[in-house]
Amino acid sequence: MTTDAGRRPFIAGNWKMNLDHLQGIALVQKLAWTLKDAGFDRGSVEIAVFPPFTDIRSVQTLIDADDHALAYGAQDLSPHDSGAYTGDVSGQFLAALGCTYVLIGHSERRTGHGETDEVVNAKVLAAVRHGLVPVICVGETEAELEEHGTSAVPVAQTRAALAGVAPGTPVVIAYEPVWAIGTGKVATPETAQQVGAAIRGAVQEVLGADDAAATRILYGGSVKSGNIAGFMRQPDVDGALVGGASLDPAEFAGIARFPQHLGV
Ligand code: PEP
Repeated sequence: MTTDAGRRPFIAGNWKMNLDHLQGIALVQKLAWTLKDAGFDRGSVEIAVFPPFTDIRSVQTLIDADDHALAYGAQDLSPHDSGAYTGDVSGQFLAALGCTYVLIGHSERRTGHGETDEVVNAKVLAAVRHGLVPVICVGETEAELEEHGTSAVPVAQTRAALAGVAPGTPVVIAYEPVWAIGTGKVATPETAQQVGAAIRGAVQEVLGADDAAATRILYGGSVKSGNIAGFMRQPDVDGALVGGASLDPAEFAGIARFPQHLGV
């Protein structure tokens, strides 16, 4: 399926710093079996997992060997391509492991690792250099929401993240209100739509109307199988970035099977 605007829905699972490579293999196997048992149509919704770096090779091997309908990516990358950057992981290495995507600017990196808009932008450009699709996370804290209102911070972060990106470059933007991540508090679908539309406007300013129309915008923040349908009904929400619930294969599969809840 596609959204009314022709964008393929995208459900992404951010495992964060959970699951070693053996546990990661078990989760991917259970997820794939659950989707298969449920008769999941692999063309209908794109599903991606974002394991820790140390799991990626194992996840790649399993997905390739069993031809599972799953994409995968990393949770971060270095802004540099190679050299004396101890502990960093180059986009080149991620591309060599078959990653399609890479998360950039997750709030846990912005707040826990001091990642500024400039660092996020440098990482976006690094991802693009290596043919990875950046999944750029934007979102406001509760204090920023009170001070600046809805949309201002995510729009500013989107503009900053896309500086220097050439039109025609595929990107995904995930709107994740910081106050909703891992808290059980969820934005309303109407708020997600309002911010999604504003982000699309920012993409249009930087990359043009065609790219804005093609760009998938996700909502993230305490998404579950029981609340995904409300978000997916919104014209400017094309999927979800899922944290905690992506660690439960049955729950994550339930989120990916949202078209059933929509009756489409
Ligand atoms: C996330 O980590 O990006 C996230 C949205 O987490 P959760 O679904 O647990 O709120």
